[in-house]
Amino acid sequence: MERLTIIKGDIVKMKTDAIVNAANTSLLGGGGVDGAIHRAAGEELLAECETLGGCATGQAKITNGYRLPAKYVIHTPGPIWRGGERGEAELLASCYRSCFALALEHHLSSIAFPSISTGVYRFPLEEAAQIAIREMAAFLRQNPSFQKVVMVCYDDTALKAYKAAYKKQLGQEEQEKQEEKATAEKEKMEKTEKTKPAKQKKSPLHFFRSKKKSSAEE
Ligand code: ADP
Repeated sequence: MERLTIIKGDIVKMKTDAIVNAANTSLLGGGGVDGAIHRAAGEELLAECETLGGCATGQAKITNGYRLPAKYVIHTPGPIWRGGERGEAELLASCYRSCFALALEHHLSSIAFPSISTGVYRFPLEEAAQIAIREMAAFLRQNPSFQKVVMVCYDDTALKAYKAAYKKQLGQEEQEKQEEKATAEKEKMEKTEKTKPAKQKKSPLHFFRSKKKSSAEE
């Protein structure tokens, strides 16, 4: 997973093809990372966002980056945490997938994400980090030519959580690899067992024959 990096920083400074905005469904700007992105990109970003007619939670829409170093902004409204029983985890995964789908559609090769939903929307950080890293790893596995995914954490707490999730993901992948290897070996062994010629049945005379032989040898 060398193509996935986790850093502490400010997403508006990222020079990736696109940066992701943890937006709200109106797409008309807000606080947190959304506010920072709009301030850095300039008023033209809001003007373009106004033409988009909002965006559903878990979906994503793309705009230009204007004064940002990134060429595009991909806006995705994350789910508001309401206890975890309202599909929050699936919606958060869907945010990442929708952003990646747009990145592919626009032939981008690098993208930077903030920690979607873990600010004002109060999604528990540890779980959010695990979902994010799992989706990033899956995307990179399926798209070997995509160059870079950067997870941009704004503070040490987020950095620690995403690094821990990364380590856990690596551990799981290693375990899956080992399991796959073990299954493949088992299958190979079963195959060779099946293709081995059946043991020749000894003729009922065998006993006498070998006896005869040994008596001849005496
Ligand atoms: P949400 O409404 O999806 O929870 P927030 O903007 O409130 O979005 O917070 C999402 C995350 O973005 C939080 O972890 C917050 O610390 C972080 N954040 C805020 N500003 C920036 C920034 N400039 N760059 C990167 N991350 C930021």
